[in-house]
Amino acid sequence: MTNAGGSATSDVVIVGGGVIGVSSAWWLEQAGYLVTIVERRKTLGSLTTPNALGTIRTQYGAPSLVALAQESLEFYRHIQARLGVAPNDIEFSNPGYLYLTDRADDVDRLADALTMYQGLGVTSSEMLNEAEIRRRFRFAGDSVAGIFHGDGSFVNPALVTGAWAGQLSNTTVLLDSAVEAIESTSSGWRVSTERGHVDAAVVVVAGGPYAAQLLSPFGVDLPVRVTPRYRVFVPDDDPEHRSAPLVINVVNGSYWRPVPRGHLA
Ligand SMILES: Cc1cc2nc3c(=O)[nH]c(=O)nc-3n(C[C@H](O)[C@H](O)[C@H](O)COP(=O)(O)OP(=O)(O)OC[C@H]3O[C@@H](n4cnc5c(N)ncnc54)[C@H](O)[C@@H]3O)c2cc1C
Repeated sequence: MTNAGGSATSDVVIVGGGVIGVSSAWWLEQAGYLVTIVERRKTLGSLTTPNALGTIRTQYGAPSLVALAQESLEFYRHIQARLGVAPNDIEFSNPGYLYLTDRADDVDRLADALTMYQGLGVTSSEMLNEAEIRRRFRFAGDSVAGIFHGDGSFVNPALVTGAWAGQLSNTTVLLDSAVEAIESTSSGWRVSTERGHVDAAVVVVAGGPYAAQLLSPFGVDLPVRVTPRYRVFVPDDDPEHRSAPLVINVVNGSYWRPVPRGHLA
């Protein structure tokens, strides 16, 4: 299948060209598979992906998530060797991740969480008391306790997607091609758009907010609900904020992180 129409075959068809679809294509290409990405929009990485805050953390409550996040962080730390771009090209930085509370009642809960993270192999996290917070993070408001995660990092998700896409050498990318049907065939799957179809042994559904819709014909009930979220850019030239970690306040739910020329909340 081309954008002009027709049919084609591939080892794998990926439905959706956000960061998940594009990075999956790169890994599959590395493993020797012939891949086709089918994306309904006119550019890759243009739906949810460019709106993400781009935070990478390794503190989760499940060992599998911790392992995935640690591997992901290692990948970004070695991005030059993996994708041939400099850390600056994807705005990678590692200023940490600061989780704060204004409530004294939360202290025991934070301490328990820290013990759990450490038990799962996360070694970069430390508990901070009020004095320590005031000394290290003067912008922390009324917070009385917190956990600082030293490995908390950021990337720019749109630039990362471009870096993955730039390294694809044998993958066909079909833009402006909305997938209308995914059907099983005797040899695998047929992915159809109004312009044509691609047959493949495997289909990867990477449709982001539309994944549930794409999978429901197969009886897969993905618990994805689309709800609006807003990202705000605040111009900010305070030098102290420029090297700030991602700051989250658990009491009022606010969070922000520095970006070039300001911060994102
Ligand atoms: C405000 C905000 C902040 C976030 N912050 C973070 C963060 O700090 N850290 C983090 O890890 N994550 C964060 N996320 C989550 C992150 O953005 C998403 O998990 C990630 O971008 C999902 O990528 P994706 O490729 O699955 O989806 P998307 O980028 O949405 O890509 C899905 C693609 O599938 C295409 N598609 C859908 N249906 C079809 C179809 N029928 N035919 C063809 N193409 C189709 C779409 O057009 C789209 O391009 C944040 C999200 C938001 C909204």
